[in-house]
Amino acid sequence: MLFIGCHLSASNGNVAMIHTAESLGANTFAFFTRNPRGSKARELDPADCEKAVALLKEKGFGKLVAHGSYTMNLCTAREKDRLFAWDILKDDLQRMCYLPGNFYNFHPGSHVGQGMDTGIAQIVDALKYALEPDYPVTVLLETMAGKGSEVGSRFEELKAIIDGVGSEKLGVCLDTCHVYDAGYDIVNDLDGVLAEFDRIIGLDRLQALHLNDSKNPFTSHKDRHECIGRGSLGLATFCNIINHPKLKGKPMILETPNELPQYAQEIALLRSME
Ligand code: FE
Ligand code: FE
Ligand code: ZN
Repeated sequence: MLFIGCHLSASNGNVAMIHTAESLGANTFAFFTRNPRGSKARELDPADCEKAVALLKEKGFGKLVAHGSYTMNLCTAREKDRLFAWDILKDDLQRMCYLPGNFYNFHPGSHVGQGMDTGIAQIVDALKYALEPDYPVTVLLETMAGKGSEVGSRFEELKAIIDGVGSEKLGVCLDTCHVYDAGYDIVNDLDGVLAEFDRIIGLDRLQALHLNDSKNPFTSHKDRHECIGRGSLGLATFCNIINHPKLKGKPMILETPNELPQYAQEIALLRSME
């Protein structure tokens, strides 16, 4: 089963997103848990969440992949700001309990000159603080492009976070633009990259994907998404990805620079290659 969808606006609630997703040919989707460039969150609507849970089941959707705010940096240098980010994470994970069984993905953080080891240690502490063992959510670390001081562009860094936290509720979301920008050649050697992922982290931790082409060449560390087939990854790479036996059944989310009609076209394009 191909579970594919895109980023949707959460402003009209979860039920509205499900209907929008369906109209685009999607059977999963992503949404921001709060303002992607800030910390403000919508008021939680438990009745809408309850309806959404039933509707997702009824319509056979795959797991949703919620996305934390871009500005939430769990390893920022100033302690006051760092602890604020940790509380944002905790609040996000508590909110996810109203949509049980889905994924919460976030950018691990940027160590802003503190050093990779310190950054990783602070992210580990944040997750230990925010993720209670009984929360019905799996938290996904997103693979990053390695822009600036980003943590998580190497599989080893993600593995160190996972080991440090020691929770079964932690996994990875592989972003195709980011890993290619980071220097994992999924264009010429997808099998080799997945073997490397398996060796370092374990493929059982790979829970979801972000499908983005890249505006920039291999190992550019830039993180600029391009529409599917129009960038340095190319259409054949996405054909390989959606049909790869080790990636089958995992939710795949488009974060391409599109409005809804183009998302529908990309979803149809990818489905036609299955
Ligand atoms: Fe992301
Ligand atoms: Fe992404
Ligand atoms: Zn990105």
